[in-house]
Amino acid sequence: MTPAGSGCRLRIVAIGDELLEGRTADTNSNRIQRALGQHLTRAHDVQVVPDERESIAAALERTVPGDLVFVCGGLGSTPDDLTREAVAAWAGVELRERAPLRERLQRRLRERGLPVPAGVMKQAQLPAGMEPLENPVGSAPGLVGSLRERTVALLPGVPGELQGLLPLVVAWLEERTLLPMVRPARLWRTAQVPESAVVEMCRPVRESWPGLRWSYWLTRWGVDVRIAGEPGSDAELDAAADAIDVALSHRTYAREMLPLPLVVQNELLKRGRTLSVAESCTAGLLGGALTDAAGSSGCFRGGLIVYANEAKQSLAGVSESLLVEHGAVSEPVVRSMAEGCRTRLATDYALAVSGISGPGGGTEDKPVGTTWLAVATPTATFAARYRFLADRTRNRALTVAVAIDSLRRVLDAADDVDPFRDDDFWARRR
Ligand code: ATP
Repeated sequence: MTPAGSGCRLRIVAIGDELLEGRTADTNSNRIQRALGQHLTRAHDVQVVPDERESIAAALERTVPGDLVFVCGGLGSTPDDLTREAVAAWAGVELRERAPLRERLQRRLRERGLPVPAGVMKQAQLPAGMEPLENPVGSAPGLVGSLRERTVALLPGVPGELQGLLPLVVAWLEERTLLPMVRPARLWRTAQVPESAVVEMCRPVRESWPGLRWSYWLTRWGVDVRIAGEPGSDAELDAAADAIDVALSHRTYAREMLPLPLVVQNELLKRGRTLSVAESCTAGLLGGALTDAAGSSGCFRGGLIVYANEAKQSLAGVSESLLVEHGAVSEPVVRSMAEGCRTRLATDYALAVSGISGPGGGTEDKPVGTTWLAVATPTATFAARYRFLADRTRNRALTVAVAIDSLRRVLDAADDVDPFRDDDFWARRR
């Protein structure tokens, strides 16, 4: 088998009409890139092709000897699942049935009391030269092997099945030293700063270490920054990392691939503190995000969806006079929501959000995107006004991210440090 070596190029072929028709986003390619990210900083290319033999063959023809080729989708049992046949034809090898695979498929169906559907046994066939990796979550195995001097991995399209198989494929490649050496990298996850500002903050460091590969990308929670070097460049990376730590300061919520709500959850659990939320414009999205990770019940007590003014009064205890005088999207109301929620749900902290997500509902003083956030802590309540400039969906997502990050900053600093106007505090702390 041709060793991949440091010049190895990762090529991904994602198969499926639905990917080209906009019905499904190609998340599998992203998963494959992430699974190999420590070895290869980027894929050489990603080809998205329809469920057609000729298109699959043409995509494979674009690969060259030495490539690491991941093909995903089309491994099922329906007539449009053509990957096995197309790969075998391209490689000039025959499809061979493997008895143990046939038996496993029959056993799985029997155990579930299902008849054997027509075509399902094609999942027991593989191109000669490939070997199966047992699928921990589905019926179609992953297939790996060397074909025409490329290392080829065929994976099912169902995202859960692909994710279940990826670690097995990576382990298979690592055992055979088919991947380049791990490329050292360092990561920062930041929140509440636009990408352009993150790039600007890192600029002096980037200029001092021009030999590193820099990447910035938007996430659900903010902006991530990664620097990567050649194998053996750890000392250089560490020196640059110290400078980036200073440049990004409190805007960094994690130095590893942890989602922001999990960072907050871990902090709350560590301190034995509890949290509740009062949501107007996000109507449950904030509570949803805070309960994404297992273990959230150890700190998250619940939330109030107070979309209408009446609900703000009856559930969160906001007074009618505040609502009449200042309007629902205002500092006094959002503070009162946070304090009412904290008291009524008997938690240490409460977050409250109220905003105009759009597209309608804006006024001259409160244009679309105006959002008030508040954090109530055991000793103080802080509030801030934001103006998000995206569409309704993104404005609501940004509200969730900023609210969670504001609590993260309080937990990182102190209950009486204003998370919204804290730059001086962090500068002094440094
Ligand atoms: P099946 O046994 O379901 O036929 P398969 O390996 O043949 O599995 P496909 O039929 O290509 O896979 O796709 C199965 C499901 O996975 C579909 O819902 C499809 O939309 C989704 N899917 C396929 N490819 C991708 C991709 N690249 N990214 C995200 N989802 C995908």
